[in-house]
Amino acid sequence: MAQRLIVVGGDAAGMAAASQARRRRDRADLEIVAFERGHSTSYSACGIPYWISGVVPERDQLVARDPATFRADFDIDVRLRHEVTAIDLARREVVARDLDGGGEVRERFDELVYATGAVPKRPDWAGPEVRGVFGVQTLDDASALRAWLDAEPSPRRAVVVGGGYIGVEMAEALIQRGLSVTLVERADQPMSTVDPDMAALVADAMRGVGIDIRTGVEVTGLDERAGRVSAVVTTDGPLPADVVVLGLGVRPDTALAEAAGLPIGVSGGIRVDRRMRVPGAPGVWAAGDCVETLHRVSGLPVHVPLGTHANKQGRVAGINLGGGYATFPGVIGTAVTKVCDLEVGRTGLREREATASGFEFVSVRAESTNRAGYYPGARTMTVKLIAERSSGRLLGAQIVGWSEAAKRIDTLAVALWNEMTVDEMTALDLGYAPPYAPVWDPVLIAARKAVDALHHAQGRAPC
Ligand SMILES: Cc1cc2nc3c(=O)[nH]c(=O)nc-3n(C[C@H](O)[C@H](O)[C@H](O)COP(=O)(O)OP(=O)(O)OC[C@H]3O[C@@H](n4cnc5c(N)ncnc54)[C@H](O)[C@@H]3O)c2cc1C
Repeated sequence: MAQRLIVVGGDAAGMAAASQARRRRDRADLEIVAFERGHSTSYSACGIPYWISGVVPERDQLVARDPATFRADFDIDVRLRHEVTAIDLARREVVARDLDGGGEVRERFDELVYATGAVPKRPDWAGPEVRGVFGVQTLDDASALRAWLDAEPSPRRAVVVGGGYIGVEMAEALIQRGLSVTLVERADQPMSTVDPDMAALVADAMRGVGIDIRTGVEVTGLDERAGRVSAVVTTDGPLPADVVVLGLGVRPDTALAEAAGLPIGVSGGIRVDRRMRVPGAPGVWAAGDCVETLHRVSGLPVHVPLGTHANKQGRVAGINLGGGYATFPGVIGTAVTKVCDLEVGRTGLREREATASGFEFVSVRAESTNRAGYYPGARTMTVKLIAERSSGRLLGAQIVGWSEAAKRIDTLAVALWNEMTVDEMTALDLGYAPPYAPVWDPVLIAARKAVDALHHAQGRAPC
Protein backbone atom coordinates (compact mmCIF):
# COMPACT_ATOMS: atom_id res chain seq x y z
CA MET A 1 0.00 0.00 0.00
CA ALA A 2 1.20 3.52 -0.82
CA GLN A 3 2.34 5.72 2.03
CA ARG A 4 0.53 9.00 2.58
CA LEU A 5 1.96 12.51 2.82
CA ILE A 6 -0.26 15.27 4.19
CA VAL A 7 0.85 18.85 3.58
CA VAL A 8 -0.64 21.61 5.78
CA GLY A 9 -0.35 24.92 3.90
CA GLY A 10 -0.24 25.14 0.12
CA ASP A 11 2.18 27.96 -0.60
CA ALA A 12 5.94 28.25 -0.95
CA ALA A 13 7.24 25.80 1.64
CA GLY A 14 4.41 23.28 1.51
CA MET A 15 4.19 22.94 -2.24
CA ALA A 16 7.98 22.98 -2.70
CA ALA A 17 8.13 20.02 -0.32
CA ALA A 18 5.24 18.25 -2.05
CA SER A 19 6.69 18.67 -5.54
CA GLN A 20 10.17 17.53 -4.50
CA ALA A 21 8.72 14.48 -2.78
CA ARG A 22 6.73 13.65 -5.91
CA ARG A 23 9.82 13.94 -8.14
CA ARG A 24 11.39 11.14 -6.09
CA ARG A 25 8.40 8.96 -5.26
CA ASP A 26 5.56 8.11 -7.64
CA ARG A 27 1.92 7.77 -6.68
CA ALA A 28 2.14 4.01 -6.19
CA ASP A 29 4.68 4.69 -3.46
CA LEU A 30 3.43 8.00 -2.01
CA GLU A 31 -0.03 9.56 -2.10
CA ILE A 32 0.12 13.32 -1.51
CA VAL A 33 -2.75 15.43 -0.17
CA ALA A 34 -2.20 19.18 0.36
CA PHE A 35 -4.64 21.25 2.45
CA GLU A 36 -4.79 24.98 1.80
CA ARG A 37 -7.39 27.15 3.49
CA GLY A 38 -7.14 29.97 0.93
CA HIS A 39 -8.16 30.13 -2.72
CA SER A 40 -4.70 29.64 -4.29
CA THR A 41 -1.60 27.49 -4.18
CA SER A 42 2.03 28.52 -4.76
CA TYR A 43 1.37 32.23 -5.00
CA SER A 44 3.92 34.98 -4.58
CA ALA A 45 3.02 37.01 -1.49
CA CYS A 46 6.20 38.93 -2.34
CA GLY A 47 4.50 40.16 -5.49
CA ILE A 48 1.43 41.55 -3.68
CA PRO A 49 2.68 45.17 -3.46
CA TYR A 50 3.33 45.16 -7.22
CA TRP A 51 -0.14 43.84 -8.04
CA ILE A 52 -1.68 46.41 -5.71
CA SER A 53 0.30 49.19 -7.43
CA GLY A 54 -0.65 47.91 -10.89
CA VAL A 55 2.95 47.25 -11.98
CA VAL A 56 1.84 43.61 -12.25
CA PRO A 57 -1.52 43.87 -13.99
CA GLU A 58 -3.14 40.51 -13.23
CA ARG A 59 -3.61 38.69 -9.91
CA ASP A 60 -3.06 35.32 -11.60
CA GLN A 61 0.44 36.39 -12.64
CA LEU A 62 1.37 35.95 -8.98
CA VAL A 63 0.35 32.30 -9.00
CA ALA A 64 3.28 30.11 -9.99
CA ARG A 65 1.31 26.84 -10.04
CA ASP A 66 -2.42 26.41 -9.59
CA PRO A 67 -4.15 23.34 -8.11
CA ALA A 68 -5.03 21.99 -11.57
CA THR A 69 -1.33 21.96 -12.50
CA PHE A 70 -0.43 20.21 -9.26
CA ARG A 71 -3.08 17.59 -9.94
CA ALA A 72 -2.20 17.06 -13.59
CA ASP A 73 1.60 17.31 -13.53
CA PHE A 74 2.40 16.17 -9.99
CA ASP A 75 -0.49 13.92 -9.04
CA ILE A 76 -1.01 15.93 -5.87
CA ASP A 77 -4.52 16.04 -4.41
CA VAL A 78 -4.87 19.74 -3.55
CA ARG A 79 -7.83 20.61 -1.32
CA LEU A 80 -8.41 24.33 -1.45
CA ARG A 81 -10.51 26.10 1.19
CA HIS A 82 -9.75 23.29 3.63
CA GLU A 83 -8.38 24.34 6.97
CA VAL A 84 -6.56 21.78 9.07
CA THR A 85 -7.91 22.19 12.59
CA ALA A 86 -6.05 19.45 14.46
CA ILE A 87 -3.11 17.10 14.14
CA ASP A 88 -3.24 13.84 16.08
CA LEU A 89 0.29 12.47 16.17
CA ALA A 90 -0.65 9.33 18.08
CA ARG A 91 -3.34 8.28 15.57
CA ARG A 92 -1.37 9.83 12.69
CA GLU A 93 -4.40 11.77 11.47
CA VAL A 94 -5.26 15.33 10.61
CA VAL A 95 -8.71 16.87 10.88
CA ALA A 96 -9.65 19.40 8.19
CA ARG A 97 -12.72 21.60 7.81
CA ASP A 98 -14.19 22.48 4.44
CA LEU A 99 -14.55 26.27 4.73
CA ASP A 100 -17.21 26.45 2.02
CA GLY A 101 -19.21 23.26 2.57
CA GLY A 102 -18.73 23.14 6.33
CA GLY A 103 -17.97 19.40 6.46
CA GLU A 104 -15.05 17.85 8.32
CA VAL A 105 -12.67 15.18 7.06
CA ARG A 106 -10.09 13.03 8.82
CA GLU A 107 -7.09 11.93 6.81
CA ARG A 108 -4.37 9.54 7.91
CA PHE A 109 -0.72 10.25 7.22
CA ASP A 110 2.61 8.49 7.32
CA GLU A 111 4.52 11.71 6.63
CA LEU A 112 3.40 15.24 7.48
CA VAL A 113 4.77 18.56 6.22
CA TYR A 114 3.78 21.48 8.44
CA ALA A 115 4.01 24.67 6.38
CA THR A 116 1.42 27.07 7.76
CA GLY A 117 3.53 30.20 7.34
CA ALA A 118 3.22 33.17 9.68
CA VAL A 119 0.41 35.11 11.33
CA PRO A 120 0.38 38.87 10.76
CA LYS A 121 0.16 40.92 13.94
CA ARG A 122 -3.27 42.51 14.13
CA PRO A 123 -3.94 44.85 17.03
CA ASP A 124 -7.27 44.87 18.89
CA TRP A 125 -8.31 48.17 17.31
CA ALA A 126 -8.25 46.56 13.84
CA GLY A 127 -11.32 44.37 14.41
CA PRO A 128 -13.77 43.35 11.67
CA GLU A 129 -16.46 45.87 12.66
CA VAL A 130 -14.80 48.73 10.75
CA ARG A 131 -14.43 48.14 7.02
CA GLY A 132 -11.41 49.40 5.10
CA VAL A 133 -8.58 47.87 7.20
CA PHE A 134 -6.42 45.29 5.44
CA GLY A 135 -3.50 42.97 6.03
CA VAL A 136 -1.47 41.81 3.03
CA GLN A 137 -0.27 38.39 4.16
CA THR A 138 -2.03 36.25 1.57
CA LEU A 139 -3.36 36.63 -1.93
CA ASP A 140 -6.88 36.57 -0.47
CA ASP A 141 -5.97 39.55 1.74
CA ALA A 142 -4.58 41.33 -1.31
CA SER A 143 -7.73 40.60 -3.34
CA ALA A 144 -9.86 42.16 -0.60
CA LEU A 145 -7.63 45.28 -0.58
CA ARG A 146 -7.68 45.53 -4.40
CA ALA A 147 -11.47 45.28 -4.41
CA TRP A 148 -11.69 48.10 -1.82
CA LEU A 149 -9.32 50.31 -3.81
CA ASP A 150 -11.15 49.67 -7.08
CA ALA A 151 -14.65 50.21 -5.65
CA GLU A 152 -16.60 53.49 -5.47
CA PRO A 153 -16.24 55.77 -3.60
CA SER A 154 -12.61 55.34 -4.50
CA PRO A 155 -10.30 55.81 -1.51
CA ARG A 156 -8.05 58.87 -1.69
CA ARG A 157 -6.22 58.82 1.65
CA ALA A 158 -4.28 55.81 2.88
CA VAL A 159 -2.58 55.19 6.19
CA VAL A 160 0.00 52.42 6.36
CA VAL A 161 0.65 51.25 9.91
CA GLY A 162 4.15 49.84 10.42
CA GLY A 163 7.33 50.83 8.62
CA GLY A 164 8.99 47.45 8.05
CA TYR A 165 9.76 46.42 4.50
CA ILE A 166 6.17 45.34 3.83
CA GLY A 167 4.81 48.67 5.09
CA VAL A 168 7.34 50.53 2.98
CA GLU A 169 6.51 48.50 -0.14
CA MET A 170 2.78 49.03 0.45
CA ALA A 171 3.28 52.78 0.93
CA GLU A 172 5.05 52.84 -2.44
CA ALA A 173 2.24 50.79 -4.05
CA LEU A 174 -0.46 53.12 -2.78
CA ILE A 175 1.35 56.30 -3.77
CA GLN A 176 1.84 54.82 -7.24
CA ARG A 177 -1.94 54.33 -7.41
CA GLY A 178 -2.34 58.05 -6.78
CA LEU A 179 -3.46 57.97 -3.14
CA SER A 180 -2.06 60.34 -0.56
CA VAL A 181 -0.14 58.14 1.85
CA THR A 182 0.85 58.52 5.50
CA LEU A 183 3.07 55.90 7.10
CA VAL A 184 2.89 55.61 10.88
CA GLU A 185 5.79 53.98 12.70
CA ARG A 186 6.21 53.60 16.46
CA ALA A 187 10.04 53.60 16.26
CA ASP A 188 12.20 56.60 15.35
CA GLN A 189 12.75 55.38 11.78
CA PRO A 190 10.99 53.23 9.23
CA MET A 191 13.00 50.25 7.86
CA SER A 192 14.29 48.86 11.12
CA THR A 193 15.89 46.03 9.15
CA VAL A 194 18.84 48.38 8.59
CA ASP A 195 20.73 50.58 11.06
CA PRO A 196 19.17 53.96 11.90
CA ASP A 197 21.76 55.94 9.89
CA MET A 198 20.90 53.92 6.76
CA ALA A 199 17.17 53.98 7.54
CA ALA A 200 17.35 57.78 7.63
CA LEU A 201 18.36 57.71 3.95
CA VAL A 202 15.31 55.57 3.18
CA ALA A 203 13.03 57.90 5.14
CA ASP A 204 14.39 60.91 3.20
CA ALA A 205 13.71 59.16 -0.09
CA MET A 206 10.19 58.23 0.98
CA ARG A 207 9.45 61.82 1.91
CA GLY A 208 10.93 62.80 -1.44
CA VAL A 209 8.24 60.84 -3.29
CA GLY A 210 5.50 62.39 -1.19
CA ILE A 211 4.97 59.79 1.56
CA ASP A 212 4.16 61.50 4.86
CA ILE A 213 6.13 59.63 7.53
CA ARG A 214 5.12 59.93 11.17
CA THR A 215 7.73 58.30 13.41
CA GLY A 216 7.57 57.87 17.17
CA VAL A 217 3.79 57.70 16.77
CA GLU A 218 1.50 54.89 17.83
CA VAL A 219 -1.95 54.04 16.51
CA THR A 220 -4.51 53.63 19.28
CA GLY A 221 -7.78 53.26 17.41
CA LEU A 222 -9.95 54.01 14.42
CA ASP A 223 -12.75 56.44 13.65
CA GLU A 224 -15.52 55.31 11.34
CA ARG A 225 -18.41 56.70 9.38
CA ALA A 226 -21.25 54.31 8.43
CA GLY A 227 -19.02 51.33 9.20
CA ARG A 228 -16.16 52.56 6.95
CA VAL A 229 -12.86 53.74 8.35
CA SER A 230 -12.61 57.55 8.31
CA ALA A 231 -9.49 58.18 10.40
CA VAL A 232 -6.70 56.52 12.30
CA VAL A 233 -6.42 57.72 15.88
CA THR A 234 -2.79 58.13 16.94
CA THR A 235 -0.79 59.42 19.89
CA ASP A 236 -0.12 62.41 17.62
CA GLY A 237 -3.78 63.08 16.81
CA PRO A 238 -6.15 61.73 14.13
CA LEU A 239 -5.06 61.01 10.56
CA PRO A 240 -7.86 60.96 7.96
CA ALA A 241 -8.00 57.63 6.12
CA ASP A 242 -10.22 55.93 3.56
CA VAL A 243 -8.10 52.80 3.67
CA VAL A 244 -5.67 51.40 6.27
CA VAL A 245 -2.99 48.82 5.49
CA LEU A 246 -1.30 46.90 8.29
CA GLY A 247 2.38 46.03 8.12
CA LEU A 248 3.11 45.30 11.75
CA GLY A 249 5.21 42.19 11.32
CA VAL A 250 4.42 38.53 11.72
CA ARG A 251 4.95 35.66 14.12
CA PRO A 252 5.30 31.99 13.23
CA ASP A 253 1.93 30.22 12.83
CA THR A 254 2.46 27.42 15.32
CA ALA A 255 -0.97 27.04 16.95
CA LEU A 256 -1.65 23.55 15.55
CA ALA A 257 1.92 22.46 16.15
CA GLU A 258 1.81 23.55 19.78
CA ALA A 259 -1.53 21.80 20.29
CA ALA A 260 -0.02 18.63 18.81
CA GLY A 261 2.97 18.87 21.16
CA LEU A 262 5.63 19.71 18.56
CA PRO A 263 8.67 21.53 19.99
CA ILE A 264 8.78 25.34 19.77
CA GLY A 265 12.10 27.17 19.85
CA VAL A 266 13.14 30.35 21.66
CA SER A 267 12.31 32.52 18.64
CA GLY A 268 8.73 31.20 18.64
CA GLY A 269 9.19 29.08 15.51
CA ILE A 270 8.96 25.28 15.33
CA ARG A 271 12.27 23.59 16.02
CA VAL A 272 13.70 21.60 13.13
CA ASP A 273 17.00 19.90 12.42
CA ARG A 274 19.11 20.64 9.36
CA ARG A 275 17.06 18.19 7.26
CA MET A 276 13.85 20.01 8.33
CA ARG A 277 12.73 17.11 10.55
CA VAL A 278 10.88 18.05 13.72
CA PRO A 279 12.85 16.52 16.61
CA GLY A 280 10.99 13.87 18.58
CA ALA A 281 8.24 13.51 15.95
CA PRO A 282 9.19 10.84 13.41
CA GLY A 283 7.78 11.48 9.93
CA VAL A 284 6.95 15.13 10.73
CA TRP A 285 8.67 17.90 8.80
CA ALA A 286 8.27 21.66 9.01
CA ALA A 287 9.44 24.45 6.72
CA GLY A 288 8.99 28.11 5.88
CA ASP A 289 7.75 31.03 7.96
CA CYS A 290 6.55 28.72 10.76
CA VAL A 291 10.02 27.44 11.71
CA GLU A 292 13.05 28.82 13.46
CA THR A 293 16.44 28.56 11.88
CA LEU A 294 20.11 29.12 12.67
CA HIS A 295 21.72 32.50 12.07
CA ARG A 296 25.15 31.60 10.76
CA VAL A 297 26.83 34.79 12.00
CA SER A 298 25.33 35.18 15.48
CA GLY A 299 25.00 31.43 15.99
CA LEU A 300 21.55 32.08 17.49
CA PRO A 301 18.19 30.52 16.62
CA VAL A 302 16.11 33.10 14.75
CA HIS A 303 12.80 33.53 12.97
CA VAL A 304 13.42 35.09 9.55
CA PRO A 305 10.19 34.91 7.53
CA LEU A 306 11.30 35.22 3.91
CA GLY A 307 10.21 33.52 0.73
CA THR A 308 13.75 32.68 -0.26
CA HIS A 309 14.13 30.50 2.86
CA ALA A 310 10.62 29.01 2.64
CA ASN A 311 11.28 27.70 -0.87
CA LYS A 312 14.69 26.28 0.03
CA GLN A 313 13.49 24.71 3.27
CA GLY A 314 10.45 23.16 1.58
CA ARG A 315 12.72 21.73 -1.09
CA VAL A 316 15.04 20.25 1.54
CA ALA A 317 12.11 18.64 3.39
CA GLY A 318 10.73 17.23 0.12
CA ILE A 319 14.07 15.79 -1.00
CA ASN A 320 14.58 14.10 2.36
CA LEU A 321 11.12 12.65 2.68
CA GLY A 322 11.43 11.52 -0.92
CA GLY A 323 14.40 9.39 0.11
CA GLY A 324 17.23 11.77 -0.83
CA TYR A 325 19.62 13.78 1.30
CA ALA A 326 19.61 17.57 1.65
CA THR A 327 20.28 20.05 4.43
CA PHE A 328 19.38 23.66 5.15
CA PRO A 329 22.50 25.34 6.50
CA GLY A 330 20.90 28.40 8.13
CA VAL A 331 20.62 32.03 7.09
CA ILE A 332 22.67 35.19 7.19
CA GLY A 333 19.77 37.63 6.94
CA THR A 334 20.12 38.80 3.35
CA ALA A 335 17.18 40.86 2.08
CA VAL A 336 16.48 43.49 -0.55
CA THR A 337 13.65 45.89 -1.18
CA LYS A 338 12.97 49.23 -2.81
CA VAL A 339 10.87 52.31 -2.36
CA CYS A 340 10.20 53.83 -5.77
CA ASP A 341 13.70 54.16 -7.26
CA LEU A 342 15.61 53.85 -4.01
CA GLU A 343 17.00 50.37 -3.38
CA VAL A 344 17.90 48.85 -0.04
CA GLY A 345 19.92 45.72 0.70
CA ARG A 346 21.17 44.14 3.87
CA THR A 347 23.00 41.01 4.97
CA GLY A 348 24.42 39.70 8.23
CA LEU A 349 24.11 41.59 11.48
CA ARG A 350 23.08 45.18 12.13
CA GLU A 351 25.08 47.07 14.75
CA ARG A 352 22.47 46.32 17.40
CA GLU A 353 22.52 42.62 16.58
CA ALA A 354 26.32 42.50 16.50
CA THR A 355 26.43 44.07 19.97
CA ALA A 356 23.75 41.70 21.28
CA SER A 357 25.73 38.76 19.90
CA GLY A 358 28.79 39.88 21.86
CA PHE A 359 30.96 41.03 18.95
CA GLU A 360 33.40 43.93 19.20
CA PHE A 361 33.31 45.60 15.82
CA VAL A 362 34.01 48.64 13.73
CA SER A 363 31.52 50.02 11.25
CA VAL A 364 32.09 52.34 8.31
CA ARG A 365 29.91 54.07 5.75
CA ALA A 366 31.27 54.79 2.30
CA GLU A 367 29.55 56.94 -0.29
CA SER A 368 30.29 56.44 -3.96
CA THR A 369 28.32 55.98 -7.17
CA ASN A 370 26.64 53.11 -8.99
CA ARG A 371 28.43 53.94 -12.28
CA ALA A 372 31.51 55.89 -13.30
CA GLY A 373 30.90 59.48 -12.16
CA TYR A 374 30.95 60.79 -15.75
CA TYR A 375 28.58 58.14 -17.11
CA PRO A 376 24.92 59.20 -17.58
CA GLY A 377 22.72 58.02 -14.74
CA ALA A 378 25.49 57.91 -12.12
CA ARG A 379 23.89 58.26 -8.68
CA THR A 380 24.91 58.02 -5.08
CA MET A 381 25.25 54.68 -3.34
CA THR A 382 25.97 54.27 0.37
CA VAL A 383 27.59 51.06 1.57
CA LYS A 384 27.92 50.29 5.25
CA LEU A 385 30.16 47.50 6.51
CA ILE A 386 30.45 46.05 9.99
CA ALA A 387 33.62 44.04 10.70
CA GLU A 388 34.84 42.17 13.76
CA ARG A 389 37.48 44.30 15.45
CA SER A 390 40.00 41.57 16.25
CA SER A 391 39.80 39.43 13.09
CA GLY A 392 38.49 41.87 10.49
CA ARG A 393 35.83 39.32 9.49
CA LEU A 394 32.79 40.84 7.81
CA LEU A 395 29.78 40.62 10.13
CA GLY A 396 27.20 42.66 8.28
CA ALA A 397 26.59 44.96 5.34
CA GLN A 398 23.89 47.36 4.19
CA ILE A 399 23.43 49.26 0.96
CA VAL A 400 21.12 52.15 0.15
CA GLY A 401 21.23 53.70 -3.28
CA TRP A 402 19.65 54.19 -6.64
CA SER A 403 19.72 51.85 -9.63
CA GLU A 404 21.93 48.73 -9.35
CA ALA A 405 22.37 49.19 -5.61
CA ALA A 406 20.29 46.48 -3.97
CA LYS A 407 21.60 43.37 -5.68
CA ARG A 408 25.21 44.40 -4.96
CA ILE A 409 24.39 43.10 -1.48
CA ASP A 410 24.76 39.61 -2.95
CA THR A 411 28.51 40.15 -3.40
CA LEU A 412 28.70 41.06 0.26
CA ALA A 413 26.46 38.14 1.24
CA VAL A 414 28.81 35.70 -0.49
CA ALA A 415 31.81 37.30 1.24
CA LEU A 416 30.03 37.09 4.58
CA TRP A 417 28.85 33.50 4.02
CA ASN A 418 32.46 32.51 3.34
CA GLU A 419 33.71 34.40 6.40
CA MET A 420 35.98 36.72 4.45
CA THR A 421 37.78 39.55 6.16
CA VAL A 422 37.38 43.07 4.87
CA ASP A 423 41.10 42.98 4.05
CA GLU A 424 40.56 39.98 1.74
CA MET A 425 37.58 41.74 0.20
CA THR A 426 39.67 44.71 -0.95
CA ALA A 427 41.25 42.43 -3.57
CA LEU A 428 38.03 40.91 -4.92
CA ASP A 429 38.06 40.72 -8.71
CA LEU A 430 34.75 42.49 -9.37
CA GLY A 431 33.57 43.52 -12.82
CA TYR A 432 34.17 47.07 -13.97
CA ALA A 433 32.97 49.09 -16.93
CA PRO A 434 31.74 52.72 -16.71
CA PRO A 435 28.02 51.86 -17.22
CA TYR A 436 28.13 49.41 -14.30
CA ALA A 437 30.54 50.72 -11.68
CA PRO A 438 33.25 53.23 -10.96
CA VAL A 439 36.75 51.76 -11.39
CA TRP A 440 36.69 51.11 -7.65
CA ASP A 441 33.40 49.37 -7.07
CA PRO A 442 31.40 50.76 -4.08
CA VAL A 443 31.94 47.40 -2.35
CA LEU A 444 35.72 47.71 -2.70
CA ILE A 445 35.70 51.34 -1.55
CA ALA A 446 33.77 50.35 1.57
CA ALA A 447 36.10 47.40 2.24
CA ARG A 448 39.16 49.68 2.01
CA LYS A 449 37.53 52.14 4.39
CA ALA A 450 36.76 49.29 6.82
CA VAL A 451 40.39 48.14 6.71
CA ASP A 452 41.52 51.68 7.59
CA ALA A 453 39.02 51.82 10.45
CA LEU A 454 40.25 48.47 11.76
CA HIS A 455 43.87 49.64 11.63
CA HIS A 456 42.86 52.77 13.47
CA ALA A 457 40.96 50.76 16.09
CA GLN A 458 43.92 48.41 16.48
CA GLY A 459 46.34 51.34 16.77
CA ARG A 460 48.08 50.59 13.44
CA ALA A 461 48.85 53.05 10.66
CA PRO A 462 46.21 53.21 7.89
CA CYS A 463 47.24 51.64 4.57
C1 LIG B 1 3.51 41.63 1.10
C2 LIG B 1 4.64 40.67 1.26
C3 LIG B 1 5.81 40.87 0.56
C4 LIG B 1 6.87 39.98 0.72
N1 LIG B 1 8.03 40.18 0.01
C5 LIG B 1 9.04 39.30 0.13
C6 LIG B 1 10.22 39.46 -0.63
O1 LIG B 1 10.36 40.41 -1.42
N2 LIG B 1 11.22 38.55 -0.48
C7 LIG B 1 11.10 37.48 0.37
O2 LIG B 1 12.04 36.65 0.46
N3 LIG B 1 9.97 37.29 1.10
C8 LIG B 1 8.96 38.16 1.00
N4 LIG B 1 7.80 37.97 1.70
C9 LIG B 1 7.71 36.82 2.62
C10 LIG B 1 7.28 35.56 1.89
O3 LIG B 1 6.12 35.81 1.16
C11 LIG B 1 7.06 34.46 2.90
O4 LIG B 1 8.26 34.27 3.59
C12 LIG B 1 6.65 33.16 2.23
O5 LIG B 1 5.43 33.29 1.56
C13 LIG B 1 6.55 32.07 3.28
O6 LIG B 1 6.12 30.90 2.68
P1 LIG B 1 5.40 29.78 3.56
O7 LIG B 1 5.00 28.72 2.61
O8 LIG B 1 6.25 29.44 4.71
O9 LIG B 1 4.14 30.52 4.19
P2 LIG B 1 2.89 31.24 3.48
O10 LIG B 1 3.27 31.80 2.18
O11 LIG B 1 2.31 32.14 4.50
O12 LIG B 1 1.93 30.02 3.22
C14 LIG B 1 1.30 29.33 4.26
C15 LIG B 1 -0.02 28.86 3.71
O13 LIG B 1 -0.60 27.99 4.67
C16 LIG B 1 -1.98 28.20 4.68
N5 LIG B 1 -2.45 27.71 5.97
C17 LIG B 1 -2.09 28.17 7.19
N6 LIG B 1 -2.67 27.45 8.15
C18 LIG B 1 -3.42 26.52 7.54
C19 LIG B 1 -4.25 25.47 8.01
N7 LIG B 1 -4.45 25.26 9.30
N8 LIG B 1 -4.87 24.69 7.10
C20 LIG B 1 -4.68 24.91 5.76
N9 LIG B 1 -3.91 25.90 5.27
C21 LIG B 1 -3.28 26.68 6.15
C22 LIG B 1 -2.14 29.69 4.47
O14 LIG B 1 -3.41 30.00 3.94
C23 LIG B 1 -1.01 29.99 3.49
O15 LIG B 1 -1.45 29.98 2.15
C24 LIG B 1 6.72 38.85 1.57
C25 LIG B 1 5.53 38.65 2.28
C26 LIG B 1 4.50 39.54 2.12
C27 LIG B 1 3.22 39.30 2.88
